[in-house]
Amino acid sequence: MALTVPRVFWRWGLLAVLVCCFTIVVHVLPLGASSTDDRPAPEPQIHPLPVSLAAWEDPAQQGDYFDQIKPNGVGYLVWSEFPIKVFVGPAAASVPGSTGFQQTTEAAIAAWEPYLPLAFTQEQSTADIIIQNQKPESRSGERVRAAETRCFNLYVNERNQLDQRCTINISPHQPGTQEHKMASVRHELGHALGIWGHSPSETDALYFAQVRTPAGISARDINTLKRIYQQPTRLGWPLPSVTE
Ligand SMILES: [Zn+2]
Repeated sequence: MALTVPRVFWRWGLLAVLVCCFTIVVHVLPLGASSTDDRPAPEPQIHPLPVSLAAWEDPAQQGDYFDQIKPNGVGYLVWSEFPIKVFVGPAAASVPGSTGFQQTTEAAIAAWEPYLPLAFTQEQSTADIIIQNQKPESRSGERVRAAETRCFNLYVNERNQLDQRCTINISPHQPGTQEHKMASVRHELGHALGIWGHSPSETDALYFAQVRTPAGISARDINTLKRIYQQPTRLGWPLPSVTE
């Protein structure tokens, strides 16, 4: 059956791109408006917490950086169908810097897995998150990026829910050790999982800059992630039916 996609979603998908690293661009979108051939967006609601995040506790109460996370036109970019399907593309051919791409990527995915269920898929076309070993797109006036995440590619899924796809591009020419490359994928994956903001603390995986000794996923990262997943979103909710 052909998928009916309101034209306005395509427009958002093309216009609204969240980009890292290390600049976050959040477009505030004029949601709610509808025309004769566009269905209105679902109302923002809160999804039940994923079991793994519901079980998360931080007895030391190390805090979070939730105040750095800004919602956009659909609310917070959280996933509500688990496991989140991740497709990992092949390592760039004949590029010395891409050695170990598969390994570092799998290690980064494994680092987030205890907090949100992730699963590898071989089907790129139906993946939620695509990780590619290719140079991020260059945009005029910006410095060259070693890695970036683009989300907010909106569509209506087969359950009639507003859904998104993310693409992470990791440059084969990224400098640094394997540890730095793994930290880079881990950081970008944090964005793709919903952390659309940066931490001001270099002891967090989502710190805004690269450092000599990259931090692993911290309690503050997960405290932030948990708060994000307790916020309302239009993603994952069905589009209201249109009354003729
Ligand atoms: Zn970032």
